[in-house]
Amino acid sequence: MDRMPSDNHKIVIRPDKVPVGEHSRRFNAPTIDDVAIVIVGQDFQKRDIVLHRRTNELTRVSETHRCYDALQYPILFWEGEDGYHFNIKMINPATGAETNKKVSAMNYYSYRLMIRENEESHILKCRRLFHQFVVDMYAKIETERLNYIKFNQTKLRSEEYIHLRDAVNNDGNVNDVGRMIILPATYSGSPRHMHEYAQDAMAYVRAYGRPDLFITFTCNPQWTEIKDHFFPGQSPIDRHDLTARIFKQKLKSLMDFIVKHRVFGEVRCYMYSVEWQKRGLPHAHILIWLVDKITPDQIDSVISTEIPDQMIDPDLFEVVTKNMIHGPCGALNLNSPCMIDGKCSKRYPRALISDTVTGDDGYPAYLRRSTDVNGKSTIIKVRNQNVEVDNRWIVSYCPLLSKTFKAHINVEYCFL
Ligand SMILES: [Zn+2]
Repeated sequence: MDRMPSDNHKIVIRPDKVPVGEHSRRFNAPTIDDVAIVIVGQDFQKRDIVLHRRTNELTRVSETHRCYDALQYPILFWEGEDGYHFNIKMINPATGAETNKKVSAMNYYSYRLMIRENEESHILKCRRLFHQFVVDMYAKIETERLNYIKFNQTKLRSEEYIHLRDAVNNDGNVNDVGRMIILPATYSGSPRHMHEYAQDAMAYVRAYGRPDLFITFTCNPQWTEIKDHFFPGQSPIDRHDLTARIFKQKLKSLMDFIVKHRVFGEVRCYMYSVEWQKRGLPHAHILIWLVDKITPDQIDSVISTEIPDQMIDPDLFEVVTKNMIHGPCGALNLNSPCMIDGKCSKRYPRALISDTVTGDDGYPAYLRRSTDVNGKSTIIKVRNQNVEVDNRWIVSYCPLLSKTFKAHINVEYCFL
């Protein structure tokens, strides 16, 4: 800082401002205390990393320099160990010999973040510094991928991309085409990648109509599989590596339950997307197309919106009261995130009804018994006050799935 002109840039986060046409949640302010890296705009060339030598000389180095990790994170690599560089060769696991294949930044840092028996995983113990290390190295991984695409445009035969014609049509400036870099559909998160998925989804809808089930599955940081791997004093926020990895395995298992074990009947096809709200916990949105519709007499046995009887099924009672109660919002909690203009945007509390009925919009209104006719209620804490909630506040769930996965799994069925 002594040698550099002062940095006059400011970062302003305006939670109420969203660029036109963008998803509102992508640009709102983070709600959790977390470390993130922001790389802005298409004009970004490379990071400006300046090394101050003992001779007072200043040198620019690349983030892929083998010394970058040790210089930037002396607490993590106090022995000055090499970080990632381009010439690390893959080892044949059978023979132990070097192969001609190179290790990518992704391979290298995945390896570094693994939990190993008989080895001190000190990086995983460093909390916020670990966060910074992870996002920094992820930016390095993206840089490497983008550079590969940039320098291998002819190999990737980008000019033959059918969408290039669209670009030419849209921008109208053919002179720019020579300098334009095409991000192929294989680059995760690129517009072409998203476009392909959207096309697949539309193809399903054209062939099979609208999906029958909409399921939201949220990572539960209280899963024992996560907690068992904490180092002393850690909480879920310290270990995004664990929450992401375990969520992925649980999601795979949940899909097996639905597709192979046919919890809702035979599945024709499905698709899902995994999202992170900022860098918080992952959740998946799942669409299921069934071969046969769920019959009205079956609905109550696979989907419920009631608090279970604690005496009959204490495990399910625990899962539902911990994960499936909406809000509470409204008068009980005006600051709940679902509140828009003084009303709950998710339409809670719902009406109590004595029988599941098929609504006009294609979604059934589920059985929600009042406490007068043996419906259950429970006491939960809202801002340190005890509040009694009944079946009006329960988000629809599948008892079998909730009990098996012990997490928030919202199941919406559409009979149209
Ligand atoms: Zn609400």
